[in-house]
Amino acid sequence: VHVRFAPCFNAVGQVEGGIGIVEDITERRRAESERERLYREAQEAVRVRDDFLSIASHELKTPLTPLSLRLATLERRLARGEHVEPSTLRQARLHLLRITSLINDLLDASRIEAGRLALRPEPTRLEGLVKQVLHSLESERGDHTVHFDAPEQPVQVNVDPFRMEQVLSNLVENAFKYSPHGGTVRVSLRQRGGLALLSVSDEGIGIPPDQQRLLFDRYFRARNVSARSFGGLGLGLYISRDIVERHGGRIWVESEPGHGSTFHVALPLMAGAPAQPLAQEPEQ
Ligand code: ADP
Repeated sequence: VHVRFAPCFNAVGQVEGGIGIVEDITERRRAESERERLYREAQEAVRVRDDFLSIASHELKTPLTPLSLRLATLERRLARGEHVEPSTLRQARLHLLRITSLINDLLDASRIEAGRLALRPEPTRLEGLVKQVLHSLESERGDHTVHFDAPEQPVQVNVDPFRMEQVLSNLVENAFKYSPHGGTVRVSLRQRGGLALLSVSDEGIGIPPDQQRLLFDRYFRARNVSARSFGGLGLGLYISRDIVERHGGRIWVESEPGHGSTFHVALPLMAGAPAQPLAQEPEQ
């Protein structure tokens, strides 16, 4: 409560009495602390946005420098009528691809925020999609060994193949990226209880236990990932979770810091298979 007191004077200036006001200010305090909380939240949002903008500009600039160097070399050589190495062109193209993929992630994230990421599901054989992704990432494999534990039966799901390929690519690319010393990346696909179960395991840096549940949040990057050694915007898993969940599936992670991580995706099989509720994470 808030107490105020005002004395009342008579004609000769003596105190004759007074008026006391006792006010219940619970609501006012509540409103003030609510205002402070909103203010703190707004400041935090501005900080996150500023951090993100500086990371995003850095990430976008990183491939731009070598790209413009390679283009300058090409221009010089062509002007002198010299031989141009196909590898110079190829590297320029890879830098361009990196920039395109960052921009696509930024666009996808804002489409998700606006509820406008369109899905075009069609009957899809998941094992074919996995093979396609592994083939297209062959040049990023480096010194990793890749194993695909393929199912005996075809695994048919009703998904947008382009978007599901994006999820798989993201998981396999992360497995390569966060296992800086190579090792084996295992992709496994099988079906059980009406679900297609896919997992991607690596023997990399792993994820601190208290950060695992935050991985799928927008912009989140775990603290064992320094921006310098592992580039990234923290959007891939956020986009992947949205895509998987909008197909009626689940995505989750198991990880041991220093030993590796396994990302799991469960998707409903196409009609014909018995349905199983996805409220629980299978196998956990
Ligand atoms: P990015 O890789 O661009 O940071 P992602 O959304 O793909 O964004 O991943 C978010 C974070 O999750 C990463 O920054 C990293 O901390 C963690 N992470 C993802 N995959 C792995 C993995 N295979 N091993 C260890 N950490 C991982």
